Amino acid sequence: MTMFIKHAYKLCIITLLMYVAIFTSAKSQSLSAKETQIQQYIEQHTDEAVQMLKRIVNINSGTLNIKGNRKVGAVLKKELDKLNFKTYWVTYGDEVERAGHLFAEMRGGKGKKIVLIGHLDTVFERDHPFQSFVQEGSKAYGPGVADMKGGDVSIIYVMKALDHIGVLQQMNLTIVFTGDEEKLGASPSIVRKELVEAGKWADIGLGFEGTYGMDTGTIARRSSSSWILTTTGIQGHSSQVFSETLGYGAIFESSRILDAFRTKLSEEEYLTFNPGVIVGGTSTQFDPVLARGNAFGKTNVVSQTVTAHGGIRAISSNQLESAMKSMRKIASNNLPGTTAKIEFKTSYPPMEPKRANYELLEKLETVNKALGYGSLTPLDPSRRGAADISFVAPHVNAALAGMGPDGHGSHSSEEWLDLSSFPKTSSRAAIFIYRLTR
Ligand SMILES: [Zn+2]
Repeated sequence: MTMFIKHAYKLCIITLLMYVAIFTSAKSQSLSAKETQIQQYIEQHTDEAVQMLKRIVNINSGTLNIKGNRKVGAVLKKELDKLNFKTYWVTYGDEVERAGHLFAEMRGGKGKKIVLIGHLDTVFERDHPFQSFVQEGSKAYGPGVADMKGGDVSIIYVMKALDHIGVLQQMNLTIVFTGDEEKLGASPSIVRKELVEAGKWADIGLGFEGTYGMDTGTIARRSSSSWILTTTGIQGHSSQVFSETLGYGAIFESSRILDAFRTKLSEEEYLTFNPGVIVGGTSTQFDPVLARGNAFGKTNVVSQTVTAHGGIRAISSNQLESAMKSMRKIASNNLPGTTAKIEFKTSYPPMEPKRANYELLEKLETVNKALGYGSLTPLDPSRRGAADISFVAPHVNAALAGMGPDGHGSHSSEEWLDLSSFPKTSSRAAIFIYRLTR
């Protein structure tokens, strides 16, 4: 071959490759015939889905209502059984006082392994006045309608749509509906063990709590931990405060520590911490479970004890660890005559904004565009609380949350779901899962 022919040949290959690339991306930016069928199925079944939502919202499933959580789970389980999922409950001893979790597995053997997450419980216990589903046009009000029974029903209809086009039975999926998302029944090492295992099995994790509009995606969520600060001082007459024998007292020491937390750490992006309650004096009592305490002290007595209970949220384990380290250091630098101790308890780890999560969001964006909903931008993580996806996120290659329909006013009596978003987010999720498993 002459140089010229070689060159022309190379060019030809490059052109061909470019053509293939353009063709492929153009193709994924519109819907295939199968994907159109998914969308049509979900649109045609949205009224039916809303009826299922109404049914499960009208079953009280406050976290402590074990029977109610099991009833909601039974409705979902029946649907999943019909789709040939292997379903089972994971339960704990009576001392945990929760319903446990509903698991559903599909082991078709093909494609990426995906874990999908919902929860059965709501913050509205039986004695709460907000109990029933009320529809006003495209708005549905009700306890847990957005957080997150709308997302639970969405998971069911995503599965039905995938079954409708004949691909569900080949997939590798685990669906987990937890029964104590709003209030863990015990330490995560006990009541999230099976969820963590599901995360270790999976390649991808998808949380079905509500989206924020059709133009954002959730690639990160902050952790949720609590801390208890206790300080002690030497009791004595206040005329001797600041002296070598009595020192500064427990209340000055706790004030110094809390103020140093604020001045040294409050500027850090995505880190927040908040003392929620404080008791101090000569003698105090505090119950962190009841979030209640009492104190006795006199103006002329140097204070002997303080307890402060607070929360802390961070975007990554590194940020949380470094914040805890700084807080411990501040607490160890005691004023004369005082001691301090700070203890941390982590309930929810962070879902970190991994690079792979951004890449997964780009794939979701392609589906969003193909459906005509435009671009997706990552949601500011400080806008979301902690959730079960965080237990899965560290163990999978990539994770996204906020896959469910768009809700508002969670945890309030004004909670409502935008029913018009249901077919949009459900079609999007189903087509996304379809593409991920091709
Ligand atoms: Zn919630």
